[in-house]
Amino acid sequence: MTAQTLLLGQTLRFTADPFAEGPAAASHDSAGGILIEEGRIAAIGQGAQLRAAHPQARVVDHGDALLMAGFVDAHVHYPQTAIIASWGKRLIDWLNLYTFPEEMRFGDPAHAAEIAGRYLDLTLANGTTTVCSYATIHPESVDAFFAAAQARGQRVVAGKTCMDRNAPEGLRDTAQSAYDDSRALLRKWHGVDRLSYAITPRFSPTSTPEQLEALGALWAEHPDCLMQTHLSEQTDEIAWVRDLYPQARDYLDTYEAHGLLGANGLYGHAIHLESRERDRLREVGAALVHCPTSNTFIGSGLFDMAGLVAAGHRVGLATDTGGGSSFSMLRTMAAAYEIGQLRGTALHPAQLLWLATVGSARALRLDASIGNLAPGMEADIVALDLASTPAIAQRSTRAQDIWEAVFPTIMMGDDRAIRATWVAGQRLV
Ligand SMILES: [Zn+2]
Repeated sequence: MTAQTLLLGQTLRFTADPFAEGPAAASHDSAGGILIEEGRIAAIGQGAQLRAAHPQARVVDHGDALLMAGFVDAHVHYPQTAIIASWGKRLIDWLNLYTFPEEMRFGDPAHAAEIAGRYLDLTLANGTTTVCSYATIHPESVDAFFAAAQARGQRVVAGKTCMDRNAPEGLRDTAQSAYDDSRALLRKWHGVDRLSYAITPRFSPTSTPEQLEALGALWAEHPDCLMQTHLSEQTDEIAWVRDLYPQARDYLDTYEAHGLLGANGLYGHAIHLESRERDRLREVGAALVHCPTSNTFIGSGLFDMAGLVAAGHRVGLATDTGGGSSFSMLRTMAAAYEIGQLRGTALHPAQLLWLATVGSARALRLDASIGNLAPGMEADIVALDLASTPAIAQRSTRAQDIWEAVFPTIMMGDDRAIRATWVAGQRLV
């Protein structure tokens, strides 16, 4: 008989979209259970019933912890782990002063392996089970990241960052080598175990039109791959793009004109969008990735969550490590809430938790496999302690329902709130 594991605790899963249905889109069981078999969820229901029906299962009782899908971080730069929380710069200077010198080091496989392992361990400790990461221009940085994720059994997406101008010597490829290296890495890793490849031009200012064209051609040859890049993060950046691409209608057009706009495209930030850009992104069904701690930390602007979701855009949530100031998706949800407040919309805890799980999984086109609790889905699960510090505990003891109980953890929680992280049915934290 196949080994089974039964996790007991409070359970929370989504049966619909809380932006459409409100908190009724979530299903909460205060004494639930999740039966795991061969890395997948075999059943979810009342804990006592599952225990009676599966007496042979190994039981792991998480007490009153809240069991939900592991967090999905839809936009990160794992090579920036060691420069997170670097002081005082806006986007372009921040890249030149902090990011590029650090990324230069990733041609060394030993350094890449050390940071990849450190990054994944830090994020697992924060309850994040899947990330979509930029690497550096070095193929070694992609190999190191996929190898580290593979060793942990994780589902991750990553790609070689391509740049052939406006980056220092040693951190530039060419249109041809970007195409060749990306294709070789894609063929090596895409679809292996739980790994998938994303074609990754950093952003229009660091790519020539020829490089964007080459990567657009590669995407056309491999349309099932994701394509990730940055879009309209800061106003200085947009002005720079206008200078570099005088013929383009707007920032998005620099991608669209070179075959880099599509349904499997992920566009990070997307703060200062023109109406044509919003229309085109929605028409093609592209995903926007909101990176709230990065947007406040680097001073970029306030993402229009309510407007974009109401218009029908697919939106994911992300830390943007290390432009973002935290590895924690709890802190990231809190920042999304704060930005919503500054724009006049209070996001409900159900919407925040949905964004950090189902929403990001939808953005990555992985929502059939991860991001929720349902039979057949991969068993990537986080157990949240809803009373992890004295400040949170004194607040959550007064809660009248699950939303009041979980909201203090969203706003004030950190890695101390992670009681366990399960990846493909194995407990890693
Ligand atoms: Zn980024």
